[in-house]
Amino acid sequence: MIVGIDLGTTNSLAAVWQDGNLRLITNALGELLTPSVVGLDDEGRVLVGKAARERLHTHPHLTTALFKRHMGTAWTVRLGDKLFRAEELSALVLKSLKDDIERACGEPVTEAVISVPAYFSDAQRKATKVAGELAGLKVEKLINEPTAAALAYGLHRQGEEGTFLVFDLGGGTFDVSVLELFEGVMEVRASAGDNFLGGEDFDQALIDFFVSRQMAAGGLPDPRAHTHALRREAERVRQALGELHTATFTLRAEDKTWSETVHQGELNEIFAPLLTRLRQPIERALRDARIRVADLDEILLVGGATRMPLVRRLAASLFGRFPSVSINPDEAIALGATVQAALKKRDAALEEVVLTDVCPYTLGIETVKAFGRHHDEGHYLPVIERNVVVPVSRVKTVSTLYDNQTMVAFTIYQGESRLVKDNIELGHMRVPVPPKPAGEVSLDVRFTYDVNGILEAEITVPLTGQRHQLIIENNPGVLTPEEIAQRLTALQALKIHPRERQPNTHLLARLDRLYQENTGEMREEISYLGACFQQALESQDDARIDSARQEITLKADAIEAGMWLF
Ligand code: ADP
Ligand code: MG
Repeated sequence: MIVGIDLGTTNSLAAVWQDGNLRLITNALGELLTPSVVGLDDEGRVLVGKAARERLHTHPHLTTALFKRHMGTAWTVRLGDKLFRAEELSALVLKSLKDDIERACGEPVTEAVISVPAYFSDAQRKATKVAGELAGLKVEKLINEPTAAALAYGLHRQGEEGTFLVFDLGGGTFDVSVLELFEGVMEVRASAGDNFLGGEDFDQALIDFFVSRQMAAGGLPDPRAHTHALRREAERVRQALGELHTATFTLRAEDKTWSETVHQGELNEIFAPLLTRLRQPIERALRDARIRVADLDEILLVGGATRMPLVRRLAASLFGRFPSVSINPDEAIALGATVQAALKKRDAALEEVVLTDVCPYTLGIETVKAFGRHHDEGHYLPVIERNVVVPVSRVKTVSTLYDNQTMVAFTIYQGESRLVKDNIELGHMRVPVPPKPAGEVSLDVRFTYDVNGILEAEITVPLTGQRHQLIIENNPGVLTPEEIAQRLTALQALKIHPRERQPNTHLLARLDRLYQENTGEMREEISYLGACFQQALESQDDARIDSARQEITLKADAIEAGMWLF
């Protein structure tokens, strides 16, 4: 059986080609999307998906997400007493999808087509193949995500030629690709994007709005203490506003409730800066591909965040027409990967030209943000943005932070996260500067990145004319066959959380999280629900467990929606 898999940064899903039809696969919780989150449960067994996502907050040292951003690098993360590479974490997600498919179809999965972002470098593509191999899947082919979207829409059948734009707004990334179909070959003509722009950033904008309103009205104790609860609530409100005119943003903490009604009409203003940022990569991709909006035959919206009416309206106004949205945006890529798999079986696979002469990562330095007297360290300042065509050379200027500072330390990072702690450290330099009042000595940081993946960092102090240089040879971190074999043995030794217990584990993890988010009487209530469910579990009576799970899930929903009555 041939399958197609969308291995996403936020969510993953799989589809199969069965009896001439495309079929999306549901997971152990009966859902199509499996969050790309991996963790270890309290017994050290691997937990993938929604239950792991609940535990991101309650068990941060045993859980990890967003690892797709580290594919093709030597990055590792510690979960419990084990270190994992991005390929291994991706392999665990793939393995979980593979089990779901085999369960749904009753036959073993032999081959898979997996999608990757168009800008993925050779190392990142190799890492994705390794992930498949580690999951016990033969990766027949990788397909570019925008190409997969085009296949899902059947654009390869609409004639020999065409030009398309794929607008993909996911959980944390925005990717724009211009595709050209020519004599039956699909080429990514240009791809541009923003690594810091996705559903999560819209959530953050909504949180900022809520917090500023609450502050104006007398204040929240400390919004930073409720980050997780605020994030969940923002996502819920944002999604609700896709269908309703108003929704209420509520934070319950310390036996108090803060709430604010948000009207759909207010979103334009709340999201204005983000909506503006969506324009730039579109313009860049069109410019790079030397294509005018009028020349585009189709515009496809994919990625869960394009479900937002506001984003759809923006796209319609930018392109002067309504984009195609007839396929669920978070399902299109998996469907397209499956179409490719099916075509491949008939030896009719769509050929693709892959674009790899770009710098695949953002390269930058650590900076300090000053808020008055307060200095906040650990922020990332990109110097070369990912996805620019190489060779490339870019300069950023920074200045001293303290009076009479004599030395400036630079740490160079690769990665896409706002905070340097989540990026990969490549090197370190110390540059002497003449003592002057704070801010009076400027330094030019020039990065030059070439086709061989060699980064040259050069720092100049214009005041003294001094220059300092550091050359970093980027080790892309591709595993050797021996290392793959070792990792395979290590992964096989891991115990996987039993599939049939996943719905129960998810509920327990959710109750743990609700317990952490609440206080006082509500906590007692949640703890009581947890104890009831634990008791049901101990009975080992499946019917009793199922009915307890249903009942307690409804109560948890009510608690979460603020509809709980004591
Ligand atoms: P990725 O490609 O990053 O793995 P997805 O395409 O699954 O991710 O998109 C995930 C994002 O889509 C999340 O930020 C989520 O909040 C958002 N999303 C999903 N459904 C909706 C909806 N109905 N309204 C608004 N945003 C949504
Ligand atoms: Mg995606």
